[in-house]
This record gives sequence, structure tokens and C-alpha cells, in this order.
Amino acid sequence: MVKRTPLIAGNWKMNLNLAESDSLIASVGEAIGGLEQVEVLVAPPFTSLAHVKKSIGRFKIFLAGQNMHEELSGAFTGEISAAMLLEAGCTHVILGHSERRSLFQETDQRINNKAVAAIKAGLVPIVCIGETLEEREAGRTFEIVRTQLNGSLRDFKAQKQLPKVLVLAYEPVWAIGTGKTASPEQAQEVHLIIRAWLKEHFGGPSAEATRILYGGSVKSDNIKELMAQADIDGALVGGASLKAGTFIPIIKYQ
Ligand code: PEP
Repeated sequence: MVKRTPLIAGNWKMNLNLAESDSLIASVGEAIGGLEQVEVLVAPPFTSLAHVKKSIGRFKIFLAGQNMHEELSGAFTGEISAAMLLEAGCTHVILGHSERRSLFQETDQRINNKAVAAIKAGLVPIVCIGETLEEREAGRTFEIVRTQLNGSLRDFKAQKQLPKVLVLAYEPVWAIGTGKTASPEQAQEVHLIIRAWLKEHFGGPSAEATRILYGGSVKSDNIKELMAQADIDGALVGGASLKAGTFIPIIKYQ
């Protein structure tokens, strides 16, 4: 069986000024020290990226953008390219977060284009998928997740080749920022469906090697149970990633 290194990623969204970012990075960096068994990542707002890269210094913390544009450059006011994220020190980029999908009308096709552009540029895409409460209650969770996978990874699927580095994040929309977490069993059930979809389209070795994160009100008191599930390979954390006191215990769940 392939060993997948867990990834704990903090999505800061539109939060934390530079001084708060420095203090959080210093505390997290000190706390994780030479931690080998878990990868840690933070996704600050665009304007803080280069600054946070400096405060990360030699700490083992990856830096991610929260979004990017799929074109290389041009007349796209307010947008950021993959090359700009790389220049700011990013290694990863979060794509298709449910807030991008619902508040900024991002479609699966658009997320597909961004994922392809990220890979071409040398960034690791963290592609987010997940159903709404209405869809779950209508019994459509698996169908929605499959549809999002088919659309958001369309070009990779057509080429029958999934980039080794690509990360998926299952984030049920009803669990994001609501304090409602999917139970470990509910999350595992969907992660299993995602892995089965990966196997169907890219083969067993690719499916086994791909990390699937869970996101949605992850806290220090539920991370251990979530991470005990066979197909949960890490967490995408929003609110609890903003303070050292709540983020560090999640990173050190073991
Ligand atoms: C998120 O924004 O990706 C998220 C999971 O947020 P929270 O942890 O606050 O639910």
C-alpha cells in the first residue's frame, strides 16, 4: 500500500494583517520544528504572500495562493497569474474553493483550465469539490462529487493522466465555517467514492498515490478521528488555521 504524507493546509481567506501573519508563522514554525510525518501549508491573501514567504524563512511550511487566473498574463484587472504566485514564493494554489464557486461563479470548466495552467507553471493545485446541504439532503452527494470531478479534471481525464502532485479537497459546503463537521464516516464514504473515481479514470497506482484532504469545520477535537479514516489524507482548515492555539493542535494531531 502506498504511504501518503498527510497535508494540513490553512486557508486564511481574507484575514490576518502582516503583523498577525508574522506572529502566527513564528508560533507554527517553532511548534512544528523538524516534523517529518506531516506537511504544513498556509494560504494567505495575495498581498501578504511575499511577506509571509520571508517570515516562513527556514521553517518547513509550504505557501499557497487561494486562487489564480488561468491565462499567463494580460488584461485581467484584479487577477493574479501562476507565474506571479511562483514569484511570491508559492508552491501550491487552492482552486475551486466553494466560496469561489458560489460567490464568484467559478465553473468546473474554469477550474479545469486553472488546474491545467497551474500544473504547466509548476504549481501544485489543490482542487476543491463538495456538495451543498440541499444536494446532500436530496441524496445527490455522490452524483455531485462525480460531476465536479469530471468537469474540474476534464483535460487530465481526457489524457488519462493525472499529475502526480495534484491534491484534492473534499469540502461539503454545509460544513464550511458552520461548525458542522461531516462525521468521520460521512467524510470517509465520500473520500472512498473520490478514490474509486480516480481509479476508474487514472488507474490504481494514481488513485492510491493521490492525497484527498477533508475540509469543513476541522478542529483539534475532530482531526484525530477524521485522520484515522483510510482515505482521508489531511485537512483544509479555514477558521481554526487563523490562530496558533487552534492550528498547532490540528497539525500535531498524531
Ligand atoms: C475552508 O474554508 O476551506 C474551510 C474548511 O473553512 P472552515 O474550516 O472554517 O470550515
